[in-house]
Amino acid sequence: MTLSQGRPYLAIPGPSVMPDAVLRAMHRASPNIYEGELLEMVDGMIPDLARVARIKGDVAIYISNGHGAWEAALANVIAPGERVLIPATGRFGHGWGEIAGALGIEVEMLDFGKRAPVDPDRLEAALRADTGRSIKAVLATHVDTSTSIRNDIAAMRKAIDAAGHPALLMADCIASLACDRFEMDAWGVDVMVAASQKGLMTPPGLGFVFFNDKAAQARAGMERVSRYWDWTVRARPEMFYQYFGGTAPTHHLYGLRAALDMIHEEGIERVWARHEMLARAIWAACTAWAQDGPLELNVADARNRSRAVTSLRIGAPHGTTLRQWVQDKAGVTLGIGLGMAEPGDPAWHGFFRMGHMGHVNAHMVQGMLGAVQAGLIALEIPHGPGGLEAAAAVMAEA
Ligand SMILES: *Cc1c(COP(=O)(O)O)cnc(C)c1O
Repeated sequence: MTLSQGRPYLAIPGPSVMPDAVLRAMHRASPNIYEGELLEMVDGMIPDLARVARIKGDVAIYISNGHGAWEAALANVIAPGERVLIPATGRFGHGWGEIAGALGIEVEMLDFGKRAPVDPDRLEAALRADTGRSIKAVLATHVDTSTSIRNDIAAMRKAIDAAGHPALLMADCIASLACDRFEMDAWGVDVMVAASQKGLMTPPGLGFVFFNDKAAQARAGMERVSRYWDWTVRARPEMFYQYFGGTAPTHHLYGLRAALDMIHEEGIERVWARHEMLARAIWAACTAWAQDGPLELNVADARNRSRAVTSLRIGAPHGTTLRQWVQDKAGVTLGIGLGMAEPGDPAWHGFFRMGHMGHVNAHMVQGMLGAVQAGLIALEIPHGPGGLEAAAAVMAEA
């Protein structure tokens, strides 16, 4: 039999759970895109987005997913033939590098593997070695969604400065914005990319590029930027359509407005604190299960873990069978392992991820963990005792 009837829970690291308020806000007739309510709403949303990113600078909005935001950010400040340095801690650093390579940008990878964060000393050394100062930007991933490694972005800025290097610091916060603490201005980040479907709790389809004055100067020095990706007009439009380079993504904007209202009502500090405590509850459960049997948290040191996604190793075929069990029997969909083994390699079935970003609370997390524990028992996968109790003990601190 199955116990999956009821509200499903998509516990993958994006798209994330959509709040009813976001769904309701989108359920309406098409608005006028030439005057009235929609135009005022978008003007008012720009400062609210900047508040979430903790930036005084600008934001450009694109009708795109995260890959589009990656390309948009690069198109504005890096010309074909110029060089970027990418410290990678999983699939997503490589992904941004592939986009850069396809734009004709020269990419230097600094690979830190799949289980440890960026070592700022190695980054500093690589920048010092660039005596010709040809590296134009460092492309950092705040949270790598495949490995669930969280990198110390402020430490990367210190490394760049310690090397006396003029490179821009660009950060991918697609998986971390409104989940993990991020302070764009205070940490000295010049360009930041985000997308709507993770911590921002809105359907996939909006990409964001935030940038400061230093990045705007780099943009001004570019010989040519393709019209659609150019952030200059989007960030400071004279006509409404220029925000989006054409027709506005009307319903996404209503959804995003509702999501931003929820974030500001809770308060960004409390949003971060909630993600922190729910993540700790998940780690506590996983640590208890890991005492016996094959389950293992991918990132050993909690300081280097994302608060929005947790990557787990459990050995093939248990990752796949467990995911299938909790989906079929319990109505919870977990994330596939990404970037840990090639699809087609039997080892691919030994990984899975828990998404816990955005509209997630204690009972959802405890329900997801309970479903996983039921799956471990049903599939006779050995595991240590006390997982749910350990999670509850963390939640009891709230
Ligand atoms: C999800 C994600 C992306 C890609 O976003 P898409 O919307 O799938 O294009 C890039 N970087 C990180 C860190 C992500 O989590």
